[in-house]
Amino acid sequence: MTCVLVVEDEPPLVRALEINLKARNYDVATALDGAHALRLAVDHAPDVVLLDLGLPDMDGIEVIRALRGWSRAAILVVSRTSEAMVTALDAGADDYLTKPFSMGELLARLRAVARRTESTRPSGDTALIETKDFTLDLLAKKARRKGRDVRLTPTEWHLLEILVRRSGELVSRQQLLQEVWGWSHLTKTNYLRVYMAQLRRKLEADPAHPQHFFTAPGMGYRFEP
Ligand code: CA
Repeated sequence: MTCVLVVEDEPPLVRALEINLKARNYDVATALDGAHALRLAVDHAPDVVLLDLGLPDMDGIEVIRALRGWSRAAILVVSRTSEAMVTALDAGADDYLTKPFSMGELLARLRAVARRTESTRPSGDTALIETKDFTLDLLAKKARRKGRDVRLTPTEWHLLEILVRRSGELVSRQQLLQEVWGWSHLTKTNYLRVYMAQLRRKLEADPAHPQHFFTAPGMGYRFEP
């Protein structure tokens, strides 16, 4: 069963979406604001998040950023205007719909993003990563080692999230550089060396003999929990 998390602050619309989606055999969870949505995303590990950008407590873009670090859910954004859509897509949304939309249109988009997600994103949807040396809470952006909080910079987190999301896989240098620094920095492999050294120094028990952040020389990096 595909689980859809509906994040929308207009109760009549939430009700209509819930009825229609349940009638089509979707498992549905609903949240009226961003904070509740993030909590539900942790509990339910939805396949798709249907996200209204205009929420009472936080910007929908912030919700996308908070999810994208660790959740494999597809994010289908809904908004009254198309202005914020580019920002939403850049932040990691998969597709968007402008209000008002028909239920048929919504269902078609929902099927398409759910299908794409199943085929391209690795499983293992968790915000909490525990290794024998450290723990990471990707939602709260907290790292702990030996009972102490470890401070990581936003760039270190970004790099860490990409590696952790694809735990056990080799992630190429180009992919990391492009995701963290953008297309114009694809040759700056020295950035990666510096940041990976920092991550090891902060998180590994013995940074000289890493057990979690591995280098594949000339190719990329791999995280093992
Ligand atoms: Ca709204």
